[in-house]
Amino acid sequence: MHSVTVRDDLRSLEGYHSPQVDVRVRLNTNEAPTPPPIAWRDAFAAELSRVEWHRYPDRGATALRAAIAELHRVDADRVFAANGSNEVLQTVLLAYAGAGRRVVTFEPTYQMHGHIARLTGSTVVEGERGPDFRLDVESAVELIAATQPSVTFLCSPNNPTGLVEPASNVQKVLAARPGLLVVDEAYGQFADWSALTMLDESIPLVVTRTFSKTWSMAASRLGYLVGPSSLVAELDKVALPYHLDAAKQIAGRLALQFTAEMDVRVDQIVSERERVSASLGTLAIDVFPSGANFILFRPRSMPGRRVWQELLDRSILIRDCSGWPRLTDCLRVTIGTRAENDEFLAAITEILR
Ligand code: PMP
Repeated sequence: MHSVTVRDDLRSLEGYHSPQVDVRVRLNTNEAPTPPPIAWRDAFAAELSRVEWHRYPDRGATALRAAIAELHRVDADRVFAANGSNEVLQTVLLAYAGAGRRVVTFEPTYQMHGHIARLTGSTVVEGERGPDFRLDVESAVELIAATQPSVTFLCSPNNPTGLVEPASNVQKVLAARPGLLVVDEAYGQFADWSALTMLDESIPLVVTRTFSKTWSMAASRLGYLVGPSSLVAELDKVALPYHLDAAKQIAGRLALQFTAEMDVRVDQIVSERERVSASLGTLAIDVFPSGANFILFRPRSMPGRRVWQELLDRSILIRDCSGWPRLTDCLRVTIGTRAENDEFLAAITEILR
């Protein structure tokens, strides 16, 4: 046994786990149910064959950032891209949080917000959501006033609850916060409004997005944020040189040529979400309203863990949140293809009968 010890503050931290089990119906990690368009794959392959592999990639990811900027109608210096939105969050926290600084989250929310904050040495202050996981904005404002965080997180739609944060809540938190407000919109396309509309060069607000869901590109690991250019410039200092490889830059840039196809897919997922939600509501299940591509629910007549296991026994994998703090008996299902959703609904109906 070696005698090297890990940092004191990391000793009790657990890693992030999401089992990758081989199943027939995989509805546990909120990915897109279908691969990118064939035309994207062809264009990607063609461009890959022209990469100068002996050279470092474009360090500034200029073309990719320009394409993202065009999508959101902002200047390219307001876009920062990284390896998944997780790395975007990590870069933000490295730059704006860290030792001696506080980060506020409102639980339950995406576990990686608190986890990455702790990895960067920040002190995490966990605010509590109210009944039904809604943000009690008055107590949120009080907590922020009392703790003076360097970074405050909101997540809209929130993972794992699916709730969309009302614009008025984001405004109130924005007015209360002394530091940076991060609105994580990994599922933003599935919701009816976006905090992108609140962005301004003079406001310390960033909105993070990912290619892992809507763009059917979870395998590529690409995410980004839009925010004030002065802030993006600081993030550029923190990111490792050439952190975005050539293939990823091409993949992301080409994906943005398929916005019309993606809009259709988003509409399909939203209508499937409403269908699955309504179906679950006819069973002995509490269903939380979702603006995302997944649904959180709580079976009333059987422990959540047992329902999850019985689904897995039928080769249907969903996310077991039943043992997570504040989420006793809750399960989260990703919206899949119509056929996958039908299989899931038939199975859970049988299990709860
Ligand atoms: N934010 C939220 C709320 C998420 O649910 C996820 C994916 N689970 C991410 C960020 C990270 O996504 P990625 O790193 O794949 O962009």
